[in-house]
Amino acid sequence: MSTDRYPLMFSPLDLGFTTLKNRVLMGSMHTGLEEAPNGFVRQAAYFAERARGGVGMIITGGVSPSSGAGPGAKLSTGAEADQHRIVTEAVHAADPDVKICMQILHSGPLARTPDCVAASSVRSRIGAYTPNELDEAGIEQQLADFANCAALARAAGYDGVEIIGSAGYLLSTFLVEKTNRRQDQWGGSFENRMRFPVEVVRRVREAVGPDFILIFRIAAMDMLEGGMAWDEVVSLGQAIEAAGANIISTHFCWHEAPVPTIATMVPRAAFTRVTGRLRKALGIPVITSNRINMPDVAEAVLARGEADLVSMARPMLADPELVLKAREGREDEINTCIACNQACLDHTFTGRLTSCLVNPRACYETELVYAPSLQPKTIAVVGAGPAGLAYATVAAQRGHKVTLFDAANEIGGQFNLARRIPGKEEFNETLRYYRRQIQVLKIDLRLGQRIEAGPLAAMGFDEVVIATGISPRTPQVEGINHPSVVSYIDVIMGRRPVGQRVAIMGAGGIGFDVAELVSHSGPSGALDAEVFAREWGIDFDNHPRGGVTGVIPRVAASDRSVTLMQRKADALGKGLGRTTGWTHRTLLQRRGVQMMAGVDYLKIDDAGLHTLVGGEPRLFEVDTVIVCAGQTPLRTLHDELLASGQASTLIGGAFEASELDAKRAIDQASRLAALV
Ligand code: FAD
Ligand code: NAP
Ligand code: SF4
Repeated sequence: MSTDRYPLMFSPLDLGFTTLKNRVLMGSMHTGLEEAPNGFVRQAAYFAERARGGVGMIITGGVSPSSGAGPGAKLSTGAEADQHRIVTEAVHAADPDVKICMQILHSGPLARTPDCVAASSVRSRIGAYTPNELDEAGIEQQLADFANCAALARAAGYDGVEIIGSAGYLLSTFLVEKTNRRQDQWGGSFENRMRFPVEVVRRVREAVGPDFILIFRIAAMDMLEGGMAWDEVVSLGQAIEAAGANIISTHFCWHEAPVPTIATMVPRAAFTRVTGRLRKALGIPVITSNRINMPDVAEAVLARGEADLVSMARPMLADPELVLKAREGREDEINTCIACNQACLDHTFTGRLTSCLVNPRACYETELVYAPSLQPKTIAVVGAGPAGLAYATVAAQRGHKVTLFDAANEIGGQFNLARRIPGKEEFNETLRYYRRQIQVLKIDLRLGQRIEAGPLAAMGFDEVVIATGISPRTPQVEGINHPSVVSYIDVIMGRRPVGQRVAIMGAGGIGFDVAELVSHSGPSGALDAEVFAREWGIDFDNHPRGGVTGVIPRVAASDRSVTLMQRKADALGKGLGRTTGWTHRTLLQRRGVQMMAGVDYLKIDDAGLHTLVGGEPRLFEVDTVIVCAGQTPLRTLHDELLASGQASTLIGGAFEASELDAKRAIDQASRLAALV
């Protein structure tokens, strides 16, 4: 038992009428299951798995208190409340000590309807419509809707509700001058601006009675020019406490804020010190969040007195058993959230069901089941990149006897390149996870072995799986063998020197990562909160309005001249992640990296890279050309096996290199291994 190692994390929290069994909660995430066919059954399985995994409290995805309030699921009638019972009952059956609270989310100006409402008619930078200003009767209706929704949540078996008062949703539009232009009792002074959120809390408490958990999510930093000043944040917290909340949960940012707050380039627990300051001004427990992805990080936050409870949202997608593993001293078995956003937030913001890059079962608990195999087989997996690792571990977990080969001396494939990019340090955790799984599942790992068809066929495996990945594409350009031309692999591995004037040929994910690597100097912002704050213009300590007002971002200029280029005429980085692409583009631009679209490559010689840009000849006088021009599948082994009459299964990049990423590689491999 490892509760000794995490004494604070595993200490109960007495709320007077009820007790939380530990200090870790699963934060709210809208997954899309809320509106999916059979969604309540699927949510029941999803949340129950997390309850069994040891978390103390679960907050559901947002549910609207009325129609037109977005994001989709609504709770305003008794019939709707009945549907939620299956979820609350499943969680309490999994562990009666786990609490489940429903988040009440009124999207306000972010609701995707022309009928959306807000404090004033001010359109959000990311809103689809200009909201309608609520009149006095409209405000009264909203208050009644919140109270009704909370009472129905109680009837549905929830232990409490969380009201979201941040992020640019309805309640927060009242708090900030930019979105509240009212002159009546709901606008003007801060006392007036906070009147609506505080009244929501008062009415909800009145509706649910004293013995029901009421959490209010406050923006401790709006990350917005002209956001709340620190004294306003404190006044709001105190007023919310007085109105009847049991817990204040701190949030950092509006969705429209131009600052990353949860991407992998954000340091772990970067924001918790702000929660710590607020905690000192309040008498009720406080939750902190953002980039807390491992138990030691959570324990350290609690030990610094920065919070009473720690919220982990995405880490619970990545590993439902995170808390259980910490309790049992199996931290090295935790499948850590690497904060890539690729299968969770990027999906949410493009209308797809949430899942997780490192755990494709997340939100697919009822359909992707790793059941014990009835006919255990001997399986050879060739290639220990993400695809081969996922296949090998799922197959072994199901009882198959797996041998995993790789030509390299370490597992990981291209993840060994990814983890070397500044800001992608978290990728090391995935490799640590797989290394440990290989031991736990007794997979026969054979490194340093380049496998060929003849010897492999002679080994007599029941199944052969080819996960040999890709070959980098070599563009057909005159002078491609010139000494100034290097591959991204040699650059990332430090095998070839990079000069001072660099052209990067190809601006996909790898081109951007290489640009980051060669333009970067000093410590990685992902590992140093001060560097991160400087690069993004955040003042954690003096807390100007919103935490950012008037603070100029300062990024160290690259000491190399770097040009990132592509043939397409589109804006560079269009294919990067929806929620993270802009952060990469912004940082590179701040460092002075040039971005060129519509480039035709003509020739490389001693003078540099000769091109046509917009039809006009242009010479880039560079000393290094780094080729990041995509990839093609590496299928030699598969083809040789086929020629000798031996069947094999292709996965990952070996199956299809176009638009390949680790999300697709792991998902495909896991799904096939679940069926073998
Ligand atoms: P690979 O990772 O290429 O693994 C193939 C393995 O097979 C290798 O280890 C190789 O040594 C082995 N092998 C090949 N032939 C043989 C043989 N004959 N015998 C034995 N072993 C053999 N993806 C994302 O989703 N998100 C990211 O942020 C991201 N960042 C990246 C950053 C960089 C710099 C790079 C290079 C890639 C990044 N990727 C990212 C892409 C991701 O790493 C790949 O999509 C993924 O690794 C593909 O997995 P795979 O298992 O199919 O192939
Ligand atoms: P990619 O995203 O397909 O980009 C390839 C780049 O090469 C494009 O800019 C393309 O643009 C160019 N190109 C293609 N053919 C070319 C040719 N014949 N000559 C010159 N240029 C050519 O692939 P990648 O950058 O190699 O990345 C591989 C995979 O890893 C990607 O699918 C990506 O999703 C994944 N990855 C993801 C991340 C992430 O952060 N999520 C990071 C790194 C990698 P033009 O055709 O316009 O020139
Ligand atoms: Fe974390 Fe990436 Fe999984 Fe999202 S997809 S939960 S960010 S590992």
